[in-house]
Amino acid sequence: MLAPEPSSRGRPALLRLEPPLQSRVKVKVCLVGDSGVGKTSLIRRYVLDMFDDAYIQTLGAKVTKKTVLIPVHNPGPPLEVVMTIWDVMGNAGFRELLKESYFFGCQGIIAVCDVTNRITLEDLDGWIDRAWDVSPDVPVHILVNKVDLDGAPAVDEDRVKAFSAAYGSPYMFTSAKRGDNVTRAFDEIARRILDPKPASVVAVPGMGR
Ligand code: GDP
Ligand code: MG
Repeated sequence: MLAPEPSSRGRPALLRLEPPLQSRVKVKVCLVGDSGVGKTSLIRRYVLDMFDDAYIQTLGAKVTKKTVLIPVHNPGPPLEVVMTIWDVMGNAGFRELLKESYFFGCQGIIAVCDVTNRITLEDLDGWIDRAWDVSPDVPVHILVNKVDLDGAPAVDEDRVKAFSAAYGSPYMFTSAKRGDNVTRAFDEIARRILDPKPASVVAVPGMGR
């Protein structure tokens, strides 16, 4: 049997490497949803804690990184998770063209619709199905965004509940503008990727107002 290779300080190399290997992981999360629902704004809020009213359409796909501490195995130290967050141009034609590269290795989907536009919820079917074509059955999290806007919501909670149940997914009402539930939603998808127990699925009902 081979003895473990000594490190430069004479300790076995295996012991020296163990802690970093256990405590840091990478996950790939993809945002999907129609143009204008607020995907880019949600990422901006989560990563930079900023918001901009100007609408700059995302061209192609953009990848942003954020490192977070997620309490996965409770009790125990939290895990350092490097999230790579993929933001795509919300156009169905483009989606077909790019889906293999965009969704390859995707471990979690944040599916975003706009509370003022019912069609954007129905359209999430197509988005999630295309993502699952490439990365089958990865966890999904449904976000109903822009709850800061006044007026009667076009997307009602019963419909969101039924829609989310079909994907075994939690849902949250968010505002990239005010920040409601944004950190919670991204942290929660990371946690579900790393610890996909059914008990960890939390629905947060209510409009967050
Ligand atoms: P994307 O096409 O899905 O990436 O959408 P964007 O993030 O570019 O947002 C589209 C527009 O909606 C922009 O003008 C944003 O400022 C606005 N927007 C995004 N999120 C919110 C929100 O939570 N509340 C409000 N009031 N506007 C938002
Ligand atoms: Mg965008």
